[in-house]
Amino acid sequence: MHVLLLGGTSEARQLAAALHGRRGVTVTSSLAGRVADPALPVGEVRSGGFGGVDGLRAWLREHDVTHLVDATHPYAETMTRHAVQAAADESVPLMVLHRAPWSPLPDDRWVSAASTADAAAVIADHPEWRRVLLTIGRQGVHRFAHLDDREFTVRCIDPPEDPMPPRTTVLAERGPFDLDSERELFARTDVDVLVTKNSGGKLTSAKLRVARERGLPVVVVERPPLPENTPFVSTVADCERWVLTTRPVRPERDRSSTDET
Ligand code: NAP
Repeated sequence: MHVLLLGGTSEARQLAAALHGRRGVTVTSSLAGRVADPALPVGEVRSGGFGGVDGLRAWLREHDVTHLVDATHPYAETMTRHAVQAAADESVPLMVLHRAPWSPLPDDRWVSAASTADAAAVIADHPEWRRVLLTIGRQGVHRFAHLDDREFTVRCIDPPEDPMPPRTTVLAERGPFDLDSERELFARTDVDVLVTKNSGGKLTSAKLRVARERGLPVVVVERPPLPENTPFVSTVADCERWVLTTRPVRPERDRSSTDET
């Protein structure tokens, strides 16, 4: 088996570790190559885009990939769309590993936003929210750039390259973030509102608890939907099981040569 594992998440690294060294299984992890100093999985790693669907199709063919696992972040919408298309075109079995989203608890004050642009519009509509903690990664921060009457604390792994709001403090930090450090951050910055994606998982969920403790509103950018009928699992264990129990589809060229003999 040759598993191409589209990564950039902790689950992808866990899955690479779980499959690494198993007899008959080769795993290549793929990273987008955007982060300067990425957390690397064990085993083979390639980095950088494939060059769209056609590039990914070519990669699947040239490397005899038998299983495609999309364990990218739930907001990596383009990569997932390309994976679904390329897997269908090349008849490579695909599984998407998407961690379960967070759900609000009774005391939460969540405001739903359809996109980062929508989240910026929600913030603009609430002039009483003076200090904003933005934890959406570095992509999308530019959507808030026109909000020059607010103070932003932007937390992301590498600083944004696009325009930012004029009154911004960047915290270039990588999770996980524990409860104590999140409590300290909220106390120090005295923010009025948190903006977040619904990433799910435990590594970055402490901020939601601290927002709840402080009675703060949370603007939640909703997940993009998966393409229709895309198979997905929510845990590393389920995805590992899928890999190990899914028989490789023999490439077309082998099938035709078998027919002829
Ligand atoms: P995206 O918008 O869906 O993808 C844009 C392009 O980046 C893709 O078309 C592909 O380029 C390339 N790409 C993305 N993921 C790749 C991968 N794992 N391996 C090779 N190429 C990849 O993706 P994104 O939202 O920018 O996310 C980029 C990476 O960061 C992903 O690995 C994702 O798991 C990780 N990440 C994203 C977020 C987030 O909030 N979006 C959060 C945490 C981690 P080509 O078309 O040239 O193939």
